[in-house]
Amino acid sequence: MYELQVTSSEGVNEVDTGSDTSPDSGAGSGSDKGIVIVGGGLAAARTAEQLRRAGYAGRLTIVSDEVHLPYDRPPLSKEVLRKEVDDVALKPREWYDEKDITLRLGSAATGLDTVAQTLTLADGTVLGYDELVIATGLVPRRIPTFPDIEGIRVLRSYDECMALRTHASAATRAVVVGGGFIGCEVAASLRGLGVAVVLVEPQPTPLASVLGEQIGQLVARMHRDEGVDVRTGMGVAEVRGDGHVDTVVLTDGTELQADLVVVGIGSHPATGWLDGSGVKVDNGVICDEAGRTSAPNVWALGDVASWRDPMGHQVRVEHWSNVADQARVVVPAMLGREAPSNVVVPYFWSDQYDVKIQCLGEPHATDIVHLVEDDGRRFLAYYERDGVLVGVVGGAMPGKVMKVRSKIAAGAPISEVLESPESG
Ligand SMILES: Cc1cc2nc3c(=O)[nH]c(=O)nc-3n(C[C@H](O)[C@H](O)[C@H](O)COP(=O)(O)OP(=O)(O)OC[C@H]3O[C@@H](n4cnc5c(N)ncnc54)[C@H](O)[C@@H]3O)c2cc1C
Repeated sequence: MYELQVTSSEGVNEVDTGSDTSPDSGAGSGSDKGIVIVGGGLAAARTAEQLRRAGYAGRLTIVSDEVHLPYDRPPLSKEVLRKEVDDVALKPREWYDEKDITLRLGSAATGLDTVAQTLTLADGTVLGYDELVIATGLVPRRIPTFPDIEGIRVLRSYDECMALRTHASAATRAVVVGGGFIGCEVAASLRGLGVAVVLVEPQPTPLASVLGEQIGQLVARMHRDEGVDVRTGMGVAEVRGDGHVDTVVLTDGTELQADLVVVGIGSHPATGWLDGSGVKVDNGVICDEAGRTSAPNVWALGDVASWRDPMGHQVRVEHWSNVADQARVVVPAMLGREAPSNVVVPYFWSDQYDVKIQCLGEPHATDIVHLVEDDGRRFLAYYERDGVLVGVVGGAMPGKVMKVRSKIAAGAPISEVLESPESG
């Protein structure tokens, strides 16, 4: 559902393989090649920040195909789309200067040689590295059968958000394709802008594949209460228009008038530039539990990375707080130090209308869901797997969600929260 913006270079163009050619000069050795981070999002910024905080004083370079300073994506489907906020940079430019971090913006990485330890950029620049960090995030999925006409948008980047925002200001009727988090948030923001919205989701409810149908029904109800026409169990068969979208045909044959279509059907890891590098990729860059890839001195984190979990499963997470959690592990590992051993309970949130949906732990659609509170828009549900509390999901219930963090971390029996939900 997201799109990468490959933009013109504002970076430098020289060939730069670093003056230290010693093959074994490590990250902490003060080599001139230093650490190169590929990607200009949260994972890149957090990794750079952690490296400097950890005392790494070597050369540090961020390579991003976007022209913008690393920025925060969650506001794109919320405040930025609703025109409440414009500046979402994670750090001001001066911060990178102060920390002596070189930004190569508008420079897409196109190839990686893990033997020579060089990174090639789209403009032909070759950078040497001692350690390389892959933080290239995701590419939004599109629907190839849709025509190439105005008014069809995806949302991943700032530039995409601005284009969508411009379309939204002129739009009166939008169809949002996909009822995942991005689709639901975009639907809510478009309603806030006064646009009539039809939300189309092939599953029985929005968010069904993530949180299960029970919670999905609550979310659908909330959207319907806000005037969204939620159509589930179907997809979009065709989009029509002469130069600009005017009609969307659903798979049940319904024809909808629309001047905006937002495709929110998920994303895939941005790993095309790693083809031929030998870095193992399988639904993301395959990593161990500390972010080490299959190639020496190459690491990965964030949305693009599939880390091994304590059970030995490869897991790729597409949520904001996971990025900082991983940066706190990958940086000490890269510097040859002990990684923190505390148990991290995964967390994510989604803002839709005035409701903050918060998820703690690893709720799954196939878990047993105990809906213990449902007061219209406020709800609380515990997720049970094999008798154990594995997650909690709340709508506008921040205190009650956070209260069970320690129980989820401890793998407490579900009975502990069901018998006395107030005690947490
Ligand atoms: C619209 C939106 C709303 C979200 N809302 C929430 C939310 O409410 N809650 C939540 O928990 N999470 C949310 N997320 C998820 C969260 O933002 C991501 O988990 C986070 O941004 C991941 O950071 P990242 O650095 O791994 O990837 P990204 O932020 O995607 O950064 C990757 C960067 O790498 C660049 N890049 C890609 N390929 C190359 C290349 N070949 N060369 C150079 N650079 C390259 C990209 O252009 C991009 O700048 C949202 C995401 C989006 C898109």
